[in-house]
Amino acid sequence: MNKRIVVLGAGESGAGAAVLAKVKGFDVFVSDMSLIKDTYKALLNKYEIEWEDGRHSIEKILNADEIIKSPGIPDTAPVIREIQKEGIPIISEIEFAGRYTHAKMICITGSNGKTTTTLLTYHILKNAGLNVGLAGNVGKSLALQVATENFDYYVIELSSFQLDNMYKFKADIAVLLNITPDHLDRYGYDMQNYINAKFRITQNQTPNDAFIYWNDDPIITKELKAHDLKARLYPFSEEKEEGVKAYTENNQIVIDAPNDTLTITEDDLALQGRHNLYNSMAASISAKVLDIKKEDIREGLKDFKGVEHRLEKVARVRGVEFINDSKATNVNSCWYALESMRTKVILILGGKDKGNDYSEIEELVKEKVNAIICLGVDNSKLHAFFEGKVPHIEDASSMKEAVDKAFACAQKGETVLLSPCCASFDLFKSYEDRGEQFKECVRNL
Ligand code: ADP
Repeated sequence: MNKRIVVLGAGESGAGAAVLAKVKGFDVFVSDMSLIKDTYKALLNKYEIEWEDGRHSIEKILNADEIIKSPGIPDTAPVIREIQKEGIPIISEIEFAGRYTHAKMICITGSNGKTTTTLLTYHILKNAGLNVGLAGNVGKSLALQVATENFDYYVIELSSFQLDNMYKFKADIAVLLNITPDHLDRYGYDMQNYINAKFRITQNQTPNDAFIYWNDDPIITKELKAHDLKARLYPFSEEKEEGVKAYTENNQIVIDAPNDTLTITEDDLALQGRHNLYNSMAASISAKVLDIKKEDIREGLKDFKGVEHRLEKVARVRGVEFINDSKATNVNSCWYALESMRTKVILILGGKDKGNDYSEIEELVKEKVNAIICLGVDNSKLHAFFEGKVPHIEDASSMKEAVDKAFACAQKGETVLLSPCCASFDLFKSYEDRGEQFKECVRNL
């Protein structure tokens, strides 16, 4: 009898996994508790894959030999508990896709900077002429590409959720950008669980593989010893320290390699801000490990177009600069946004709190923020923390209200920054929706 695969969740990742499973000859059934988007329904229908939405037919699900779980479904979901009771193996879409390709995998994780670094790395490799695909949290799912394309390399953004259900998958190049508290609600509020998920990016690596990591991150450096790392190590750092493979010096980033050191002037980098020095270093080391020519790496770093919703300049209105950093869904990314501000700031903050500790940004807020506009269904935690620490704080319950109030507070020469520290799901469909609404409201001022 054919092996039976059940795919839970039919977004980009689940629909792609179902197609790959079908193409490989398995019996496939897709089940999604929410309504499946029309585009994914059409894809499933095209490949004659059986699916259901708005429910889980548990008997059918428990009949599977293997389950592919979409990253959005938490382990605490009742259906997952049932599957675990039956002892049916649960894997991720990336794990599954990895079985069917010999392409080299460049995998990028971290609490912040994943998308930026993934897109930048992809841009450099593609411009250098490699036959490379982009996958993971950005673009098309890896599984769909493995089913329908033939790339030699993939640059893959991996969230901790995707790493959770990976066992045999191996990254030829693994990049760990940073680890700061995020998604703790999904990890039993235990930071160690989250750290372990991130370090799974190094699992199964051999001495032929590369592990690139930020050496200034205290959690990463402390944890290195606890993990059995077999890959060649490529630490990068702001300082030129013993053993680091990339660092900054005299306003340049330096990628150290025997007889072939690469330097790039910071002002030439397309991406500005301190955090982007790290992202640029990580992308450059990956390219260097793949023997991309120095000129091509420099070129790629210079002409990269940037990423929407990440410190994206929207407009200047009557002398007030508006910046969309809607993707700052945790406190640490807001810290970097504030750190890169050169003017006084009106900060639009708030949303669905993920167990945030705002003390991390307290000093920067006191130094740079003239007013906070709290944009969320429940702003009480923000008031409790920031009251008395900024000259002005007020509430807004829609983006329009937030932008109007922020603009009213702002003086010429100041910046209105949307960098919310929180997920968007209380008032918006997604962070993209939040960022789009912000831009729309700014344009209408
Ligand atoms: P991710 O995909 O990990 O969420 P993004 O590249 O989308 O990361 O960036 C999210 C936010 O994090 C951006 O708004 C930016 O302000 C911040 N950020 C980007 N790179 C870094 C980094 N290396 N360290 C800390 N914060 C960063």
